[in-house]
Amino acid sequence: MKVSMDSTPFVRLALLGEQLEQTSKRLELTALLADFLRCLAPEEIPPAVRLIIGQVFPEWDDRALDVSWKTVLAVIEKLTAAPPDVRERVAAQAVDGGEAVRLLLEQARLEPPNPPPLSILEVFHAFEKIAAAVGKGSRASKESLLRDVLARATPLEAKYLVKVIYQEMRHGVNEGIMLDGIVKAAGVKAELVRRAHQFWGDLGEVALVALTQGETGLKQATVSLFRPIKPMLAQTAESLAEAFESSAGRVALEYKLDGARVQIHRRGNEIRIYSRHLADVTASLPDVVAEVRDKLAAEEAILEGEAVAVDDRGRPLPFQHLMRRFRRKHDVMTTVREIPIQLYLFDALYVDGRSLVDAPCRERWTALEKAAGKLNLVRRLIPQTMAEGEAFVEAADRDGHEGVMAKDLDSTYTPGVRGKSWLKLKHAISLDLIIVAADWGYGRRHGWLSNYHLAARDAESGEYLLVGKTFKGLTDAEFEEMTERLLALERSRQGGTVFVQPQVVVEVLFNEIQESSQYRSGLALRFARIARVREDKTPAEADTIQTLRQLYEKQFQYKGRLE
Ligand code: ATP
Repeated sequence: MKVSMDSTPFVRLALLGEQLEQTSKRLELTALLADFLRCLAPEEIPPAVRLIIGQVFPEWDDRALDVSWKTVLAVIEKLTAAPPDVRERVAAQAVDGGEAVRLLLEQARLEPPNPPPLSILEVFHAFEKIAAAVGKGSRASKESLLRDVLARATPLEAKYLVKVIYQEMRHGVNEGIMLDGIVKAAGVKAELVRRAHQFWGDLGEVALVALTQGETGLKQATVSLFRPIKPMLAQTAESLAEAFESSAGRVALEYKLDGARVQIHRRGNEIRIYSRHLADVTASLPDVVAEVRDKLAAEEAILEGEAVAVDDRGRPLPFQHLMRRFRRKHDVMTTVREIPIQLYLFDALYVDGRSLVDAPCRERWTALEKAAGKLNLVRRLIPQTMAEGEAFVEAADRDGHEGVMAKDLDSTYTPGVRGKSWLKLKHAISLDLIIVAADWGYGRRHGWLSNYHLAARDAESGEYLLVGKTFKGLTDAEFEEMTERLLALERSRQGGTVFVQPQVVVEVLFNEIQESSQYRSGLALRFARIARVREDKTPAEADTIQTLRQLYEKQFQYKGRLE
């Protein structure tokens, strides 16, 4: 590890990106990462590790850069004087925003980069300032801060700055490969690195501890109060039969409520609530905090549940109202009155001094029942027969819930893992996809971008691959809002189509996945319609083309044929 205090230039990170782009071999990527990490000073490790994979802040940190494509363009306009033919060439040549910025600066920059060269830490601090600019006048502040950084960046560095802003690295290094890189750089057991990452939710910190404290430091990773843990996730199942099959009948069915996941940490009167992304949302949920304080039996606990927005008669409200509650930071009490929340618990990870993450699901439920006191638990059944299970699934449908969760009773809690121990069975099949382009509407939809091109991310190449288009599912007001939002992300135009930065994630319902010769992905969704905008998901969390392929294969398994 580096001992001197001089800081690593940002160009080293950009050059690493270029090297990573040249190969898709896992071992080579890992070796490049490991060599790079070993040369960093300790304080550089966390930001560098995150920047390489296109993140500025840890997952649990709710700060966001919030820089629009328009802002980036405005800065580039000021730094360059590109004649129309150069612009056209760049638009045709560039595969993404970062590359377009590099080409523009290379071909039409007005002044050479301002000295001194950027360091990794300076880039990180600049991003921190950009994220801190919020509220009135923030657009102008963000623009001026970004201009200061880009004016000092070489074209290659600018490419990577823009790639980080849009989390569009395209060099094939995902979290998994970064974990391998950390393992190799620190010479520690892969299992310990993976586990530490599950508990800490910050690759930067994992790398720092692995490289500076080795296995002893990593072994400290466990559940602890007020340190949110990455939530365990579910795979999609096609049928109840599949759920029974995969857990050999030892399965608990629970209602899948359509709300937002919360992780509750309590020690006496101290209560904190974290979102699915580990952001601290305590301040937005004073009613839930009060309920937990009054009704929870355990003095110390980490519990998980679903928060559902309800109207004054207790009926579930559309999801967007709930998101409003979560986002609200000021004048919280007004929304508390307007949109009350019901809490339903479904898991216990720690109760009164005992960690339960390594305990089987059945034991965690028993602990939850004891700890919960007067708090609601989600409706649950351990079916003895398929018929009993099917009746439960129908009941969930009748009661208006999204579907059911099927949980393997013997499974332990695996933070951050989307494994087979939890399966979700939704009434309609849905996927979270990314809008990459949109067509101008005609007739009644004139003036709106109303036909959306939907893409799934290729987890291997990082590319966005089209799988369908739809103009269904949005209300007029939503069309209008979406048009504005997409225009702010505009990248280029061709005919009646506007291509945008891949930022907006939508939940798409559909009836079937078909083979397609029209799309390069080879797959197309049948009867796609937008269920809602997933404000709570980033493109990196949307479903991948690999998931679509798996679902496509499963259709054959359970339906026997593809219509
Ligand atoms: P989705 O879009 O289906 O909510 P997701 O990616 O947010 O998916 P998954 O792990 O795939 O998360 O699905 C489980 C989600 O369903 C949980 O994150 C939680 O918010 C919600 N949920 C509702 N009821 C339950 C339950 N009984 N047990 C676990 N999760 C539940």
